[in-house]
Parts: sequence; structure tokens; C-alpha cells
Amino acid sequence: MSYLQKMKTWLWDILFPPLCLNCQKNAEGDLCPECWAGIRLNTSLFCPVCGLRLADNKKVCHKDSPYLLAAATNYDNDSIRTLLKLFKFKKWQRLQRPLGEILVSYLRNLDLDIRNFTVVPIPLHEDREKERGFNQAKLIAKIVADFYKLDLTEPIQRIKNTKTQSLAKNHEERAQNVINCFAVNYPELIVGKNILLVDDVHTSGATIREAAKTLKSAGAKKIIALVIAKTR
Ligand SMILES: [Zn+2]
Ligand SMILES: [Zn+2]
Repeated sequence: MSYLQKMKTWLWDILFPPLCLNCQKNAEGDLCPECWAGIRLNTSLFCPVCGLRLADNKKVCHKDSPYLLAAATNYDNDSIRTLLKLFKFKKWQRLQRPLGEILVSYLRNLDLDIRNFTVVPIPLHEDREKERGFNQAKLIAKIVADFYKLDLTEPIQRIKNTKTQSLAKNHEERAQNVINCFAVNYPELIVGKNILLVDDVHTSGATIREAAKTLKSAGAKKIIALVIAKTR
């Protein structure tokens, strides 16, 4: 940094001291220590259909689900909601790291062996990705893949530019929206693989379920959907 840049940063910090994104108190990083401490990590996998905790992280009560849900936190936490909204809608890419690290901390506490998994981010439609400038799922997936030294692949593509799921009225409309919205580009990256399917939030699960079905019919073995937060 040049002297002038250092001066500018110094002056900027005095005029605008870094504040916690959630409670606006002074903070060193993105959140103050209290807001960080308020984020409780889950300690199990969940049934994606009924939300039940899966005791041994294996057996699912709703056996027809094509995936198990690994949700690091819950969406009713204020700090998590703030971080996710800023990340996705305000395009704050610097939140990639803290959010990715939430996923890693959660996974490290689970009794789950993911050494033979491939990391696959839920793809955005290319128009949507251009508009946003990045795929938020891929950014956080990369932190996980790097930490565990797993392959990150993008074997499926989103071929339907569905309207934002949060605008869909109900569960049925969400499910209707996403039917056949994924196409398989690289089946050889799917056949026989265990897949860690990464997205930011699990709401109705319609999108993740459709992606998981697409991957299963292309020959994927186990699928675990890994998200920062689930809504219920
Ligand atoms: Zn705070
Ligand atoms: Zn269930």
C-alpha cells in the first residue's frame, strides 16, 4: 500500500469505524463477538422432508428423499439472516469466507466421513449469474472443497431461468417452478460418486430436491445437501 492509500484507509476507519453488520455495534470483523456467539451450530443431519434430526446421521425417516440435509444453522437467527441477505442480494463477496467457515466448523463437528465425496454447487441459470456477478453457492462450496481437499465439479446446468423462489407463493408453486430445470452436462462426473450438494439456504427444498433427483438419475450414489441455514 502506498503512503497515500494508508492515509486514506486510516482516515476512513476514523470517519466510519467498522460496525457489526447485525447490531451496528463496533466490531473488528463482520460481526461483533456477541453476534458471532449467538450463532449456534447444529450438531446433526436432518430429514429434508419433515425436518427431524437424524440420530446417527444415516437413517432417514422419509426414505423416498433423494438426499439427506446437512444444515449448519437455522434461518431464524438474526445474524445468519443478515449475513446471507448481504451476501446474496447486496453482493458482498467478502462474506464468502466467514460463511464458508461456518460450513466447515459444522462439518468438523459431525460424525460424518466425507473424504470420498465430490463437492457440487447448485448452479444458477447463466443469465442470473451474469446479473449477480457470481454464484453464491459456488463461493461457499469452494471454501469447503479447499478445506477438505475435495474435487469441486459442475456436472449439471440450470436450463430454466425460474423466477426467484422467494417470490413463489407456496410449496406447490415452488415445486412446479423447478421441474426439469437442471440438465446433465457431464455424466462422467456423477456416475458412482457421493455428492455434497451445496447451496446457501434450504427453504422448501424444492430446488435442492430437483437437483438431487437429476444427479441420482444420472447415477450418483449418496447425496448430502449442505447449506448454511434451513428455515424450519
Ligand atoms: Zn453485533
Ligand atoms: Zn422425515
